[in-house]
Amino acid sequence: MLIIFKKDHAETQLQKIVAEVQRRGCQALVVRGLFRVTINVIGNDARWSADDFKKFEGVENVVAVTRPYILPGRDFQSEDSEITVNGVTFGGTRLVVIAGPCAVESEEQTLRIALAVQRAGADVLRGGAYKPRTSVFSFQGLAEEGLRILKKASEKTGLPVVTEAMDPAGLEAVNEYADIIQIGSRNMQNFDLLRQAGKLRKPVLLKRGMSASIDEWLQAAEYIMNGGNEKVILCERGIRSFDSQHTRNVLDLAAVPVLQRLSHLPVIVDPSHATGRRELVESMALASLGAGAQGIMLDVHDEPEKALCDGAQALHPRALLDLMWKLKRIASGLGKEMSGPSAIRTQPV
Ligand code: PEP
Ligand code: MN
Repeated sequence: MLIIFKKDHAETQLQKIVAEVQRRGCQALVVRGLFRVTINVIGNDARWSADDFKKFEGVENVVAVTRPYILPGRDFQSEDSEITVNGVTFGGTRLVVIAGPCAVESEEQTLRIALAVQRAGADVLRGGAYKPRTSVFSFQGLAEEGLRILKKASEKTGLPVVTEAMDPAGLEAVNEYADIIQIGSRNMQNFDLLRQAGKLRKPVLLKRGMSASIDEWLQAAEYIMNGGNEKVILCERGIRSFDSQHTRNVLDLAAVPVLQRLSHLPVIVDPSHATGRRELVESMALASLGAGAQGIMLDVHDEPEKALCDGAQALHPRALLDLMWKLKRIASGLGKEMSGPSAIRTQPV
């Protein structure tokens, strides 16, 4: 961190900050330049931020040099993290496909779709039991009953399950039934929830807040990791912008390589929630792999017109299968592995 002093600062103001920097366990290197005096703060491990020093008299500006997070960063761990759950590995060169309905609506609906996504070669089943809905009048999810249905679907298909927890109470239930805990966009900065998830040992799929910067997102990951749970998977799902007429959100694909430079955590993309329209999902899924994503999360429904949540962005299982073949071809072109559909059972005729 570099503390830059005002031209007319007093020497006593400078000395006060030198003492403050040392009190915080860091070294203060005073540099008296031609025009400006600065203090180079050495030994800051992200505990102290620019705001800790901006508030002092005599300070003009403070420039952060170290990143505002530690554990998710490449400075802390240079090699890619691999997170394995029930034989499925996120990270490295392996591509993971998560697919399933936006919401668990009934046992029949979930089992049907679970079998369809398994046949298409998905690695993980998704489905929301607790749904964060903008309107209180919309379908809110089946809660614990939904979790029981997901568990059944997981046993029938052998697929691990990811589902969302919205609050610390729901988190306990989700932890009991699910293999991966999802923290959704609206809760990316629910610090209580993040702290609680940090106490668990199941992987957490942390979706990007719809207006979160990349640093804020990694700082949210730090809340979980700081509690002792290092298994965080990041999921880009689009951010809010000014034009929501044609796409639900703006899919920030550049965030994928940016994150991979900054962090060792696996990064996946959800083109369904990013676009909100099924006809856009395929292109964005393919583009996500091109951008280097280590996985994709897709909404799938076999009766999208009847879906109780996000039907417009759900792929029909036929479209999923078609997309899986394309993803598989791209994966192999990129030198990556992917399960995908099996030729014997599902090769299109
Ligand atoms: C979801 O994946 O079901 C969901 C609600 O997504 P997001 O939190 O990204 O809106
Ligand atoms: Mn949804």
